[in-house]
Amino acid sequence: MAEPPPVNLKADGHIHTRLCNHARGEMEEYVESALALGLQQITFLEHLEVGIRYDHRTWLRDEDFAVYFREGKRLAEKYRDQILIKLGLEVGLNLQAMDAVSRQLIRYPWDSIGLSYHFYHHNGRHYNMVSRRHENLAALAEIGQDSVISDYFAGLIHGVQSLPCSVVCHLDAVLRHLPHRRFNQSHQQQIDRLLVLMKEKGTALEINTSGFAIRNEPYPCKRIIRSAIESGIPLVAGSDAHRPEDVGRFFDRLPQWLQQ
Ligand SMILES: [Zn+2]
Ligand SMILES: [Zn+2]
Repeated sequence: MAEPPPVNLKADGHIHTRLCNHARGEMEEYVESALALGLQQITFLEHLEVGIRYDHRTWLRDEDFAVYFREGKRLAEKYRDQILIKLGLEVGLNLQAMDAVSRQLIRYPWDSIGLSYHFYHHNGRHYNMVSRRHENLAALAEIGQDSVISDYFAGLIHGVQSLPCSVVCHLDAVLRHLPHRRFNQSHQQQIDRLLVLMKEKGTALEINTSGFAIRNEPYPCKRIIRSAIESGIPLVAGSDAHRPEDVGRFFDRLPQWLQQ
């Protein structure tokens, strides 16, 4: 008999809502989608960014968080006999504002805090490392992709050390729009160091299935997931749904993919 996969495929740990300003659908539509799929648990993981200077807001404001928390609690109660609904944050790292970020994290009693690193700070501006917009890619190329990648992993290491995060989201997404880029040896060492730290801290690793749509593989790649499994780091599957129909997306591919 095949071994059970090392991750719970009945739980989607990474779901957005229209409140983040770049997703669509009410929270309840995501719940309905999860129920239709037969999921037993979902975690809303909405975007928190603090002190980011960027022309397009892709995160919740204070008033959005109030709505998010209230509606999330209402839905958790309404559907309590059908599905476990958890509420959390996907916090974006900002090395220039760590204290302010920490203060934001404790404003609500979140069930889960996912750590991401989206915005790279350079000369007083922020560039989105996971965007495909030309101005981001051009600026990051100008700075130098190798150093951006090094800074990305150094940032994540610092974030896991200093923030109370429960899971690291899409760990190698810095490569999302650099398909021909490979990590060099020093990046690999940084990844290994990050995994050791996660193991020590009890931080889980997300298997972000949105990667299947972009590169036919989740984030992070096979090598990293294999090391995480070997080190005994807990895994969480997350669809990163930004549309209700994307809840649990590609979870059906994971058992076979994880067997390899
Ligand atoms: Zn998003
Ligand atoms: Zn993200």
